[in-house]
Amino acid sequence: MIHVRSIPTPGTRMASLELSGMPDGSCQATYWADVTLDDRGHAWLPASLPILMRIAERATFDDLLDPVGLAGSERAQDLLIGWYPALHRVAINAETGESGSPHPGVGCFFSGGVDSFYSAIVRSAQITHLIFVHGLDVGFDDVRRGEMALAAARAAAHELGKPLISVRTDIRRVSDRWSPWGEEYHGAALASVGLLLSEHVGHVIVPATYQTPDMSPWGSHPKLDPLWSTSRVTFEHHGVELTRTEKIAAITPNDIAMRYLRVCWEGDGEAYNCGRCSKCLRTMASLRAYRALDACATLPHQADWRLLRDVRKPKHYEVVDAKAILEALAARGVRERGLRRELQGMVRRDRLWRSARRLRAAARTTLKRVRVRDTE
Ligand SMILES: [Zn+2]
Repeated sequence: MIHVRSIPTPGTRMASLELSGMPDGSCQATYWADVTLDDRGHAWLPASLPILMRIAERATFDDLLDPVGLAGSERAQDLLIGWYPALHRVAINAETGESGSPHPGVGCFFSGGVDSFYSAIVRSAQITHLIFVHGLDVGFDDVRRGEMALAAARAAAHELGKPLISVRTDIRRVSDRWSPWGEEYHGAALASVGLLLSEHVGHVIVPATYQTPDMSPWGSHPKLDPLWSTSRVTFEHHGVELTRTEKIAAITPNDIAMRYLRVCWEGDGEAYNCGRCSKCLRTMASLRAYRALDACATLPHQADWRLLRDVRKPKHYEVVDAKAILEALAARGVRERGLRRELQGMVRRDRLWRSARRLRAAARTTLKRVRVRDTE
């Protein structure tokens, strides 16, 4: 049995949770913000559930949980177990508190990247606050990069005419030990931040990573994010109608996006965008497809596309992106033969990896059959 509870913190801009009875003892995580945080403990359901589903069959929450949040978490468990059969169903033992009503504010998570700029621009009329979180994409201990990213997000938000709420958390110190960040946890982490901000926003936009046709199970997903909603804060997964390349095309006319776009979490920490990693290169390639690379002040205007060969085993989202960029280059008649060759190389490498995986699986099945025959 694992116990989840709030632990007292000095002041109202800080909230902490503790999970005790874990296989490695007790662990704590803290959130700090530049605004007051809702410390009722509703946020601890998304913050802990994917972790609990890896290790526990029962969990007790000391705080009163929101009735809508509790019902949603049951459906979140159904969805996650359907995606990842290794997860357990967790029986939640908790008392429910009273329902609340949502604050009229509308928040949107904002890292300064393509997806968040797209959502911030398209939904600008509704958005009252942008929300920057340090400790998720940028590591909690990477203070320098976190400060740089925050300063850029703050300046961009100011020019977009929106106040920026800044939150910092070390939750990944706990979650990374149990729950895969991309596949399972990052949407739940964002939801925990959104629920802590219930005194400022009643609806929170989560910018999408994928377009709907490319959607495979993923930690932030149009079916999963809304299930972390409570009576006080609802979540919306936004921007599934476009590919990343199309989003880049949509934000290129926006001068603020072109001056602050930040896509890179690699590099040496000094450069705003390194211009050499897969994400920088794919962003530059998309900008090139729309003949807008020269308009972007935060990326180099010349690229060595051969660096894409360093991506030896492309991830799903990289292949999806490479295919979309190839389509955009063809549709707009942009020649860039060197770039096309490297993107085709990525798609080909992915195809080879997948056939190798299929062959391995087939070999395993045949071997199993032979062993069964031998023992009969
Ligand atoms: Zn980079």
